[in-house]
Amino acid sequence: MKYRRWLGMVLLFASPCLGADQLFNIKPVVQGVYAAIAKEQYKVNCNAAIILLDNGVLVVDTHSKPSAARALIAQIKTLTDKPVRYVVNTHFHWDHYEGNQAYMGGWPAGVEIISSEATRESIEKRGIPRVKHEILTVPKEIDKLQDDLAKADDEKQKAEIEANLRQAQDYLAELKTMQVTLPTLTFDRSLIIHGKSRTVQILWLGKAHTDGDVVVYLPKEKFIATGDMLHGWTPYMGDGYPYDWIQTLDNAEKLDFEYALGGHGDVMRGKGTFELWKEYFRDLMAETADAYAQGATLAETRETVAPKLAQKYSGKFPSTFPKDVIPNIEKAYRVVSGQTE
Ligand SMILES: [Zn+2]
Repeated sequence: MKYRRWLGMVLLFASPCLGADQLFNIKPVVQGVYAAIAKEQYKVNCNAAIILLDNGVLVVDTHSKPSAARALIAQIKTLTDKPVRYVVNTHFHWDHYEGNQAYMGGWPAGVEIISSEATRESIEKRGIPRVKHEILTVPKEIDKLQDDLAKADDEKQKAEIEANLRQAQDYLAELKTMQVTLPTLTFDRSLIIHGKSRTVQILWLGKAHTDGDVVVYLPKEKFIATGDMLHGWTPYMGDGYPYDWIQTLDNAEKLDFEYALGGHGDVMRGKGTFELWKEYFRDLMAETADAYAQGATLAETRETVAPKLAQKYSGKFPSTFPKDVIPNIEKAYRVVSGQTE
């Protein structure tokens, strides 16, 4: 019976006509574990992992706004009638935690929001000012979109700008009422939920994309949710620690898993992407250090290193790679020249 229900669900989610208006594509990964793959939005949403436990649900990450989290909650309710009991914030970036408030108060037993201690601190010290800053700056973005709309002549372009404009206006309205909701349960190295049928390990394995990244690992199911420590897009390194990151990926790779869900992009099989990212970081740092050692300015470093990396890595990362690599080189230059860690 269990098996038949499971099969039914797979068929349900394979159906392309369902969920066209929903924000997430829900993909079963292993029994009772789902990847909620975020559809493209003007204000990006991260993916979520949905993990069914004996007496509740654990959700990894809460997207960029409460309305997106509420949209996912509605989708979760079609999978199970169990209450959400745990939410994990993998790190402090806005597109992974700003939906936290949607989970509070919705279930009688309450919800614990779990993160590393470092992530909670960053949400408090950097997340809260960011929301206030955005309330002041998104109106300028809206003005720019309105200007662009007035200038646009082709219908397709107009429709796109209109959709973005609507999303920007809705986001601004949400920001104004947002209650930044901090994690309620923090840890430094590991926190383990020992369920009857499932063990969930929440692990800090070292600095990586931020200083507080955690992974959510299911040893029996061979599944790992990696947040932005590893995902299907080009790495964003603005708050990252490149040399530590290589080591932390190594640590994560030692875990026994077959399926990895990152904060963005599709579900990954095996460990190939871990190898790709480590190699990319090594090349990025070595090439940048080499240019710096030869006296190159930042502008010169960008000019010489970008084509080398693009040649090797285009095709291995998404098509935006030639553009994405630039801020990575800038970050690498700051690191090798001692301006940041
Ligand atoms: Zn991030």
